[in-house]
Amino acid sequence: MDFQNRVGSKPGSGGVLGASESNVDRRERLRKLALETIDLAKDPYFMRNHLGSYECKLCLTLHTNEGSYLAHTQGKKHQTNLARRAAKEAKETGSTVPVPTTGQTTVHVRKNLIKIGRPGYKVTKLKDPVTRQFGFLFQIQYPEVGLDIVPRHRFMSAFEQHIEPPNKAFQYVIFAAEPYETIAFKVQSKEVDKNPNLFFTHWDKDSNQFSLQFFFKVDPNTNGTNNQYFHSRLAALGLSK
Ligand SMILES: [Zn+2]
Repeated sequence: MDFQNRVGSKPGSGGVLGASESNVDRRERLRKLALETIDLAKDPYFMRNHLGSYECKLCLTLHTNEGSYLAHTQGKKHQTNLARRAAKEAKETGSTVPVPTTGQTTVHVRKNLIKIGRPGYKVTKLKDPVTRQFGFLFQIQYPEVGLDIVPRHRFMSAFEQHIEPPNKAFQYVIFAAEPYETIAFKVQSKEVDKNPNLFFTHWDKDSNQFSLQFFFKVDPNTNGTNNQYFHSRLAALGLSK
């Protein structure tokens, strides 16, 4: 019974078993995390093979049980492959992508990427003391963003979106970075000043934070002094299902 020798042994001397214990804890934690975000029935990459074990069709890895597969989905390899797949699909126009497998069949994977939830964000209202323009600084946190993914933003009119009834008083600012859900903020529908001194985006790869700052053009009717100008209703909306 070698185990008894571990009792009272110095920290570190039981290193091998100690490490496997913490690996089990880590796997269990990852499995639980994955269960919260992944529905195996809808996961296009999860496959039970004819031997009764499981495969990741994306990474071509073999797993003895569902827990092992779920832990794998939280790992770097799977996340990297997801990000690559997302970038590839974004370039393609079709809604289905044929994926060759090791068998003789070709499996069509629906364009339903595994999303890992909404990113964290911070919104700061700005007022330029000189020009008296109002604006926003959006800071979106993407700590688990895929490799090679650069977050994108765009402005969308109320009539382009199909989440809410359109209201021409508002427009939306959209942020996207796989594998996060795309989010949108609702701001007033004023013309954005593209002056590069006022308008900028910045992707900080070290802190994984994407920033967008912009100001609205001064409304000649209000002379920039009307505070109503600044009454924006702001809402984060998940745009993806
Ligand atoms: Zn995988």
